[in-house]
Amino acid sequence: MIPKDIYLDNGASTKVDEKVLKEMLPYFTKHYGNASSAHSFGYEAHQALDKARKVIAKSINADFEEIVFTSGGTESNNAIIKGIAFANKDKGNHIITSKVEHKCIVKACEWLETQGFKITYLDVDEEGFVNPEDLEKAITDKTILFSVIHANNEVGTIQDLEALGKVCKKHKVYFHSDACQSYTKVEIDVNKQNLDLLTINSHKINGPKGVGAMYVKQGTKITPLLHGGEHEFKKRAGTENIPGIIGFASALKHGPTKKEIEKMSELRDKLIEGIIKIEATKLNGPKGEKRLCNNVNISFAGIEGEAIGGYLDQKFICSSTGSACSEALLEPSHVLMAIGLSHEAANGSLRLTLSKYTTEEDINKTLETIPKVVKKLRKISPFGKVMDYVFRKNN
Ligand SMILES: *Cc1c(COP(=O)(O)O)cnc(C)c1O
Repeated sequence: MIPKDIYLDNGASTKVDEKVLKEMLPYFTKHYGNASSAHSFGYEAHQALDKARKVIAKSINADFEEIVFTSGGTESNNAIIKGIAFANKDKGNHIITSKVEHKCIVKACEWLETQGFKITYLDVDEEGFVNPEDLEKAITDKTILFSVIHANNEVGTIQDLEALGKVCKKHKVYFHSDACQSYTKVEIDVNKQNLDLLTINSHKINGPKGVGAMYVKQGTKITPLLHGGEHEFKKRAGTENIPGIIGFASALKHGPTKKEIEKMSELRDKLIEGIIKIEATKLNGPKGEKRLCNNVNISFAGIEGEAIGGYLDQKFICSSTGSACSEALLEPSHVLMAIGLSHEAANGSLRLTLSKYTTEEDINKTLETIPKVVKKLRKISPFGKVMDYVFRKNN
């Protein structure tokens, strides 16, 4: 019998819920009109688009006109960072973000630096939190935007958006959050949290890939990334991906229930407690409520995360060594370095991310397998005794 795969890489992407797929299918072959067309097929598509937009808007307490559909998290983040920068150049050229952002924010900011913008990358504490006081100190009269990841994709740290939003509001700085990991798992209320801009996507919430949205508060000055037709309130040209958008809204409808979130948190804690029983291991990121319900990230002294991941794959357990995007690179994760890990501990880290489909049996099997893999790898490790190991950088 072929063993069943245990998929613990839901931070990278998720399975499309069967119910979501079913709702999408008619929009490929039956209701395939262009939402901008003036005939029955067009109206049908437009109606479906409006309905999906309403659902997404309501989920974050935004208005209908404030939701702009995009091709996903990367596009929304780029459109926001670059669009705010170029539209508000007359006010200033300074943007603040943090040292624990997703690669697409980091790269967009680095590109803006080549275009005359100044970027401040705020430090975070040992659990990955940005201090609102540090934000306030970094703001100058040239600051136009503060962008922060809501729940960290590598270590699961959930930022206090309300506290950070208060600082932005006080200083009249646009406030953006990348909520791709937290959406449907952590409450988002754009009014309560004073958000001007938000990034969300579909394939992290059991919806299809290649679709997402940005929330742009009414009155926000933003230059579009894509020019063309007058789609999406003139903020994002291009024929809307109707099946994808239907799937996105459907995924939200079938998103994890409160009970499923609680179950994920329990399984997460069981996994963490089980793994850290292994000698010379360390949990990265916070514990409990301030940690994303489906994220586990642990460093193992003396061995490479890549090696553990490779052995787990052979045992049909899918994991990751951090952010999926940096996997091909050998340099340690910038997020793990920012929370103060030593180079070795950052390279010795493993990320396991759960979904609403993860079962207790999956976790039990994983907990049986990991200690064996670690023991085996440590035996052949060139790094010597794990007892001398330093998890943290010496400052
Ligand atoms: C996945 C992810 C992105 C990128 O989204 P895509 O839809 O894959 O382009 C951006 N930010 C975070 C936090 C993510 O987890």
